Amino acid sequence: MKKKTNTEKPKIEQELTGESVVTGWGLGKAYFVGRAVQQQETSVVTISREAVGGEIIRFNEIRDRARKDYRKLIQDLDSESTVDASILDVYEHILDDPSFIGQVVETISAKMYDLETSIRMVSNDFIKRFESAGTAYLKERASDMVEVCEKLVSYLHCGEDGSRTKTFVDSVVLVVLRTFTPTDILSYDRSKISAVITVSGGKTSHAAILARSYNIPVISGVRNISDHINPNDEILVDSDKGTVYVYPNPRLVDAYRKKTHGEEIYRELRSKWNRPVYTRDGIKIEVLANISLPEDVEEAVQNGADGIGLVRTEYLLSNRKDMPTEEAHMAYYDSILSKGRGKHCTIRLMDIGGDKIPQFFDMPQEFNPFMGWRAIRIFLERKEIFETQVLAILKAGQGYDYSIMVPMVTTLQEWIEAKAFIREVAAKAGMPMPRCGVLFEVPLATLEINMFMKEIDFASIGTNDLIQYLSAADRNNSKVNYLYNPVEPAFLRIIRNAIKIANDNGKPLSICGEMAGHPLHTVLLVGLGLRRFSVMPRSIPLIKEIIANISFAEAAESISHIDVIESMEEMLEWLKNLNLRLLGDVLKRIPYIESSV
Ligand code: PEP
Ligand code: MG
Repeated sequence: MKKKTNTEKPKIEQELTGESVVTGWGLGKAYFVGRAVQQQETSVVTISREAVGGEIIRFNEIRDRARKDYRKLIQDLDSESTVDASILDVYEHILDDPSFIGQVVETISAKMYDLETSIRMVSNDFIKRFESAGTAYLKERASDMVEVCEKLVSYLHCGEDGSRTKTFVDSVVLVVLRTFTPTDILSYDRSKISAVITVSGGKTSHAAILARSYNIPVISGVRNISDHINPNDEILVDSDKGTVYVYPNPRLVDAYRKKTHGEEIYRELRSKWNRPVYTRDGIKIEVLANISLPEDVEEAVQNGADGIGLVRTEYLLSNRKDMPTEEAHMAYYDSILSKGRGKHCTIRLMDIGGDKIPQFFDMPQEFNPFMGWRAIRIFLERKEIFETQVLAILKAGQGYDYSIMVPMVTTLQEWIEAKAFIREVAAKAGMPMPRCGVLFEVPLATLEINMFMKEIDFASIGTNDLIQYLSAADRNNSKVNYLYNPVEPAFLRIIRNAIKIANDNGKPLSICGEMAGHPLHTVLLVGLGLRRFSVMPRSIPLIKEIIANISFAEAAESISHIDVIESMEEMLEWLKNLNLRLLGDVLKRIPYIESSV
């Protein structure tokens, strides 16, 4: 039986400010991601006497595992690698150091602390000694000790397949002292993450998309975090206001606990919209779900998804040690397809690159990763990796209604080559060619969408990337967020054109970027002619409720006005008025629209 003891003293309330990236509020103890060695020392977990032997055996096992991993890393280093192999030897020395081993074993058996606590405590002692040493050489050993400690602790939260999910006893507020990444969420038990505070990260970064779909509020751009927050401090995050309260007073906490967030209305809409939606004048609009993990499908189905419009398959690679085998791929698709209750599912081939780089993937250093080697560009060069994925989709997809989508296509030539390869894999396996489509998220392809029409079965617009490429504003960078805007007139005219071309050619087109899931944009997108939305599961009932209350013809007629609007500010104002005019009181029933309009 493990018991957690907290030795922190109470403190007085302080307020910090930042920028809201995902709205909502959350309360929990501060947990510093990736700085566990020096920061989290106050959290101690004790074990029973019977558990001591097991913890020592585990210690030897994870040391062996770390040694093997470091050796493999040395073997894999190529001549151009910037990693110095001698540093890896140093890590091995630490792992075999009798004094380190002895002290960890002693801490487990004498103090009866669990393995993680013992490794952290002993490492901390070493780090302090190294840091106060006179020579530069010894000072540098402190960071080696941090590396080895983090490596060992990481195995303690690893599953058999190398996936890792750390659990917490109480709710935590994750504190990320760098740019926030998807792994920061996927490495922990999500049900215990009540909020995230980070130094930087934009609203449509992949980490923010994940947090939003799991209803985890995020505040970014908080300055000097470590001067104000210590591990285990009690934190209240109000992302709607952009405020972080450190040691909030109990009355404030009570007031937040009483907030309902429109949950009743949300529940009501959720049970109402477990069916297809039509506009008031009878046009059917599909509302599909974007998902990353098999468990998201259940939520999507419960929220009334008409299908799955985007499976972000690269999340299959998160927290893994190696490329997944064909069997691992198959298990993932099988689980998604079987949970989807026969509804259509669009599986996107892995969008590796940009901010989604698996730990094990041999990615060259790039100055501009979002403009670099990503998605289809990797696919066409490393076909063997994607052959495994395509084959697994074909096999798992037998008997299901599914299609394959390829991300980041820039030219028609690329698409034709990718499609020919999928056909070849299908032919080799003796399986039928699935329906295949393009994710339009690169301006060049989107502007030339008409060229693709004969060659695709369907299209989807990835507005998250399209906006960043059109406005040259990094989606991860909150500093340039003011330029990253889905209601920019020029951008809206571009997507209107793409929707029209697809509609005229009878090719289904969806929008699967974040803008489609925001109730503020629903009338606008229907007016632009969109008949297929693909959004995070939580948004589905809200989007359907709006669609049911508008007329397709009326929305389309109003939209011609976007041609005369010159600025984003003017567009926003016009859009708010349009929403009020066409939706009136319905707006009041949409839980999230008020704060965002
Ligand atoms: C997009 O770019 O809009 C998209 C759906 O893909 P992702 O957010 O995964 O890059
Ligand atoms: Mg994209």
